[in-house]
Amino acid sequence: MYEIAVIGAGPAGASAALFAAKAGKATLLIDNDKGMTRRGWYENYYGIPAVGGPELVETGHQQAVKFGAKLAADKATDIVRGEDGFRIATESGQTYEARHIILATGALTDLAAQAGVETRDGTEPRIKTVIAVRPDGRTNIDGIWAAGTVAGVSVHAIITAGDGARVAVNVISELNSARYVDHDAMKS
Ligand SMILES: Cc1cc2nc3c(=O)[nH]c(=O)nc-3n(C[C@H](O)[C@H](O)[C@H](O)COP(=O)(O)OP(=O)(O)OC[C@H]3O[C@@H](n4cnc5c(N)ncnc54)[C@H](O)[C@@H]3O)c2cc1C
Repeated sequence: MYEIAVIGAGPAGASAALFAAKAGKATLLIDNDKGMTRRGWYENYYGIPAVGGPELVETGHQQAVKFGAKLAADKATDIVRGEDGFRIATESGQTYEARHIILATGALTDLAAQAGVETRDGTEPRIKTVIAVRPDGRTNIDGIWAAGTVAGVSVHAIITAGDGARVAVNVISELNSARYVDHDAMKS
């Protein structure tokens, strides 16, 4: 049983998985590599003068995996509630169990709709439908959260990455029953 399964590994999902794994949570990251991030060229990502989409995505995946996240190249097709969380089925026939799920599926809400997650009209250009989230990233289904473009934030890589981190910190805090902070200090 994974503590946190993140579906979608663009900036929102990979950032969420990085925080979750670094916090010591058993973390699964499922992605079928159909996101929008690879197509961009980024000169407005704080701290990085310029980077191409493929490099930004690959670096994010490597960071999450470095801290122990399991990255599964697959499409999540089905989410059903289990006894102590959720069962996720994938296109390749795998099933995974997770206590919490973070949906970070970019422009796509089909999986959310299948799982009974409420959606609403989007407000960003070309984003027609998004998941209806509370301020902390919770959806209408207890244990399913959403982050990034699919949660309706401004469609910019640094904002979606930050939103993934923010929602992951909220999930980690809930699992820990205490507010979570991840700070590493410079070694002298
Ligand atoms: C051409 C272009 C140029 C851009 N230029 C800029 C720019 O200069 N600056 C800027 O800040 N932003 C730019 N953007 C926007 C930026 O790329 C996005 O705002 C941001 O990267 C979206 O991140 P995300 O994680 O929310 O979604 P995505 O990066 O779309 O990631 C979603 C991931 O979820 C996966 N997924 C979806 N459904 C499933 C499923 N059922 N199972 C498994 N995986 C699933 C997808 O395969 C994808 O990998 C640009 C976008 C485009 C298209």
